[in-house]
Amino acid sequence: MATRAGMAIQTTGSGTASAGTDKGMGKMKSQTRVVVIGGGIAGCSTLYHLTQEGWTDVVLVERNELTSGTTWHSAAQVTNFGMNQTMVGLKSHSIELYRELASDPDYPINYHHGDGGIRLANTEAQMDGYRHFASMARGMGVEFEVIDAEECARRHPLISTDNLIGGLWDGQDGDIDPAQLCQALARRARAAGAEVYRNTPVIGLTQHRDHSWTVHTEHGDITCEIVVNACGYRVNELGAMMGVHHPVMSMEHQYLVTEEIPAIREAGHRMPLLRCPISDYYCRQEKYGLLVGFYEQNCKTWGMDGIDPHFVNALCPDDLDRTTDVLEGAFARMPALMDVGIHTVVNGPITYTIDGAPLVGPIPGKRNAFCIIGLRAGLGEGGGHGWLLAQQIVHGEACYDTWCLDPRRFAGHANVELTALKAIEDYQNEFRFHFPNEHRPAGRMAKTTPLTPVLAAEGAAFTVVNGWERAEYFKPAPDFDVTHSFRFDESFDLVAQEIKAVQSAVGLCEVNGFNRFEITGSDAEAFLDRMICGRLPRRFGRVGLAYLLNHHGMLKSEATIARLPATDLGPERFWYGSAAASELHDMDWLTQHLGSDEDVQIRSLTNDQTILVLAGPKSRDVISAVSRADWSAAAFPWLSVRECFIGIAPATVMAVSFSGELAYEIHVPNASLYAAYLALREAGEAHDLRLFGALAVESMRLEKGFLHWKADVLTEFDPFETGLNRFVHMGKPQFIGKAALETRAAQGPSKRLVTLEVGSKAAPAHGGASVMLGDAFVGTVTSGGWGHRVQKNIAYGFVSPDYADSGTELHIDLLGDRVPATVVTSPLYDPEMNLVRT
Ligand SMILES: Cc1cc2nc3c(=O)[nH]c(=O)nc-3n(C[C@H](O)[C@H](O)[C@H](O)COP(=O)(O)OP(=O)(O)OC[C@H]3O[C@@H](n4cnc5c(N)ncnc54)[C@H](O)[C@@H]3O)c2cc1C
Repeated sequence: MATRAGMAIQTTGSGTASAGTDKGMGKMKSQTRVVVIGGGIAGCSTLYHLTQEGWTDVVLVERNELTSGTTWHSAAQVTNFGMNQTMVGLKSHSIELYRELASDPDYPINYHHGDGGIRLANTEAQMDGYRHFASMARGMGVEFEVIDAEECARRHPLISTDNLIGGLWDGQDGDIDPAQLCQALARRARAAGAEVYRNTPVIGLTQHRDHSWTVHTEHGDITCEIVVNACGYRVNELGAMMGVHHPVMSMEHQYLVTEEIPAIREAGHRMPLLRCPISDYYCRQEKYGLLVGFYEQNCKTWGMDGIDPHFVNALCPDDLDRTTDVLEGAFARMPALMDVGIHTVVNGPITYTIDGAPLVGPIPGKRNAFCIIGLRAGLGEGGGHGWLLAQQIVHGEACYDTWCLDPRRFAGHANVELTALKAIEDYQNEFRFHFPNEHRPAGRMAKTTPLTPVLAAEGAAFTVVNGWERAEYFKPAPDFDVTHSFRFDESFDLVAQEIKAVQSAVGLCEVNGFNRFEITGSDAEAFLDRMICGRLPRRFGRVGLAYLLNHHGMLKSEATIARLPATDLGPERFWYGSAAASELHDMDWLTQHLGSDEDVQIRSLTNDQTILVLAGPKSRDVISAVSRADWSAAAFPWLSVRECFIGIAPATVMAVSFSGELAYEIHVPNASLYAAYLALREAGEAHDLRLFGALAVESMRLEKGFLHWKADVLTEFDPFETGLNRFVHMGKPQFIGKAALETRAAQGPSKRLVTLEVGSKAAPAHGGASVMLGDAFVGTVTSGGWGHRVQKNIAYGFVSPDYADSGTELHIDLLGDRVPATVVTSPLYDPEMNLVRT
């Protein structure tokens, strides 16, 4: 199994229980460990993989026959391409599994593995993207090839090279029979002891005080520890039964199958798959014709206001007129299509989520409830998703960091209307991958603060963080825009100027959406001490950075914890601050570890408060002008926290700095945010205060060696591998993950996080890029960018421990070029931390 880190999750092989059964409507078990609801690829794969992880007392219930939702009519292409390593890894698992199933001598299934596939490109920017994805996939043991237009046409003899630069070749691509695949998975699961109940609709769910469930079906009840929602386009019917709404929307999606094309028979080999971001279609061989699927601009949501209960094994009416724009592009690329008749048209519902990626993992706010939903490429990915979900259910974590799939990654804004807008946008851009810092226009302004329009008037270009609009940089003119690219873009000089202002005088930046919990109660200190692997701030008025581990000793979360005394604003309390997207994730993790007899209350302040960051050598002068407290280094040193007023705005101020300059994090209730902003702007005039945005923050944090949760801080690595030793206190009697961490520490690191100086001025090293020693792969970049104060191209990456020493000369595969990358000692800027302490 290829993993980035070799995380210690072991698959255990199939269970030893006696063979289970497949029951049309016969007698059901009344009790089991897991009930998987839905018998498409998602449910069948989950059931099979649970048995592979050793849990055999598991059942699947399906309202009709297996595969009677979307799965039966899928075009069923199986590809290895993914936008990140987790996606590539899980797709590789699908391919490995399907190959193994296809070669079963007793029950072979039809799988055209290895036809190959090409993603086309007509711009250099797209080609750069493919070069990056090829570099990224190498770390997962997958070799893509970036090829020119002539080579595309050589490998796919039906295509023209007009308006084509080249493409990305994936040699593993193919297609599979979806019904045979699901039957094979169900058969193997049953052989291991699982049971499958067909024609058994789930009509209700009841959760008990001990977090177990009763699943009510039309044929009786089943009590279980854990339920899994694998209901495809009926996801929210089941969601409603447990009181949740999932941000999943169905779109109508069509493909046609042609009559035989003589040139295909004559070619003597199967045609590779095509994915076309130029004209938004895909294509594969079907018998001796072609199957062409469309992502038309004039697309349609489906089932938004409810789904006919009788829509089973069913299709939507054909509507090829809607796809004319796309058809023309396909005809131009493959002229043979113009001379052949259409044999069949298929139009069926396909699910999309609010950010395009599936939702596979724990259901937010629920105990013992998981989902595997929003699959828009479920045949290709389903094998891998079921594998990662089963690992999460059985072991609490999977071998890869699954944040890109985690259902808790959206907090509070993922409603049905926004999901529909984003689903439409995503469908319209199916094969047009997001460029770095590309934020698409649908559904914007979902979460804002009173400052959003103020910053917009100041020229802010906005990025979106967990739905929040956050200033990215400030434009010199209203019509200024950047060209989306994997290289440095036109914002480079603007960011440099913002940083210069911060470094030489003072800057102000709004950081909204930052997650913040207030934790109170007589057991709050003992509880938090158990949750983190380091030390809590010992005194009131102090702040510290802390890390939370999972039970495998791996990094779960990162939090800034401030300790506040009792005041007229409230009792003694901790403020727990973590990444903007972590709210539901961290809330679940904390509450699930709370003892029933512990006196601890956790209250989210995320939507009520916003941070203003005041940074730079003049920041003390500015804050002193607007707040009556003593802001000297002696009275308010580095890592202090206090409640005060900024002008007339109540605030909680922390002496912490992500930029590495003297800085104050000013937490203000949203109702007073504008007042605080006006006061700071006015006081800042005397010191040339300038606004700065998220890109400047990103550059400065790279120079300072600070990490980003879910870019550099991953469940695949422990704190020692990540270089966070100073935040671990092994002398504590207990903390979550301690025993596992002791074992890991004794074994030594599998990888180490290093800082690299990259020898290129053309492009930043993007997360996922391969770090090489000669032709050998030795590591993976986690994040990178230009350090404007140190004038260096900086990257962080996990590399084999043998190559982690400062001075080691390596290379990064940067957009197809091997560029030098030297391991350097971090931080690169103010390593003695003098600036923040002055
Ligand atoms: C036209 C088209 C072409 C496609 N082409 C491809 C492709 O080339 N490659 C690819 O990878 N993907 C493709 N897809 C997508 C892929 O088919 C889906 O991602 C996948 O089939 C979804 O599987 P699922 O198990 O999540 O959902 P489904 O197949 O819909 O299964 C859900 C199951 O849950 C059951 N269920 C629902 N409610 C209940 C209940 N209350 N009780 C019990 N059971 C319930 C349903 O009956 C159903 O059987 C295509 C989709 C379409 C529409």
